[in-house]
Amino acid sequence: MDIREEIVRLKNKKRAIILAHNYQRDEIQEIADYTGDSLGLSKKAASIQDKELIVFCGVYFMAETAKILSPDKKVIIPDRGAGCPMADMITAQQVREFRNKYPGSVVVCYVNSTAEVKAESDMCCTSANAVQVVLSLPADKTILFVPDRYLGDFVRKKTSRNIVCWKGFCPTHARVTRDMVLAARKKHPNAVVLVHPECTEDVVDAADEAMSTGQMIAYVKKSGRTEFIIGTEKGILYQLKKENPRKDFYLVGKDVICPNMKKIDLQKLLVSLQEEQDEVVVAPAIMERARKAISAMLLL
Ligand code: SF4
Repeated sequence: MDIREEIVRLKNKKRAIILAHNYQRDEIQEIADYTGDSLGLSKKAASIQDKELIVFCGVYFMAETAKILSPDKKVIIPDRGAGCPMADMITAQQVREFRNKYPGSVVVCYVNSTAEVKAESDMCCTSANAVQVVLSLPADKTILFVPDRYLGDFVRKKTSRNIVCWKGFCPTHARVTRDMVLAARKKHPNAVVLVHPECTEDVVDAADEAMSTGQMIAYVKKSGRTEFIIGTEKGILYQLKKENPRKDFYLVGKDVICPNMKKIDLQKLLVSLQEEQDEVVVAPAIMERARKAISAMLLL
């Protein structure tokens, strides 16, 4: 039997749902029941009723978020080693120390963080709703934004709020340079440049728009334009091309690939379903506190 058929057979037998991030390999996005950005995946995970098993194809913090939002379901990830270097740039202890330095501040934590860091935070955000989250907070509060300095800078510019950023960053998006954007524009003068706000400030300034991957998909679909330079992880091209076969997409640079997002392949997905491994486990006390921060965001 073909590996895809076997995955589908097992998925149905085990009443499982396959969730995949927009940066996953094409073949994983193709077989998934739902693909999306962190916000879309969080909302989906929170709404799953009729399934017993969630197979999460993404990086570990995303699978943890799914577990926190669906505590009664078994959540598995096909490669336990698919981590996020940005999420590992801050620990729970460092969040506590950061907060102690700014008494009375509010900690906003990008969803690209560990469950322990979320548990120390007041509210989570994703790249799709970070501006909205910050604007929902009292204007006189100092906001400690962890762990992504570039998303934090982007939100500060959009909101004029007093935001102090942790110094984390995404190594994949940090590879995108302003020169790459300018060179791509020269090559494709009619294209709209869309970048992710995890990119550096000069890259965002050189682009036409900065937005989450889910927002990019919606933007391109609505746009009357036909050419787009894309400044985010390569995996997004799968959905963009699938939904817009008559439009052209140019990745801003060939190296914008997150190695962790590519760790899961069909073989690992199959084994994971067969063995129901690796199970994602979050300590109950952490889960409870982390859920409060995530739910505060989802209630907006
Ligand atoms: S693309 Fe960046 S933020 Fe996303 S998982 Fe990879 S390293 Fe982490």
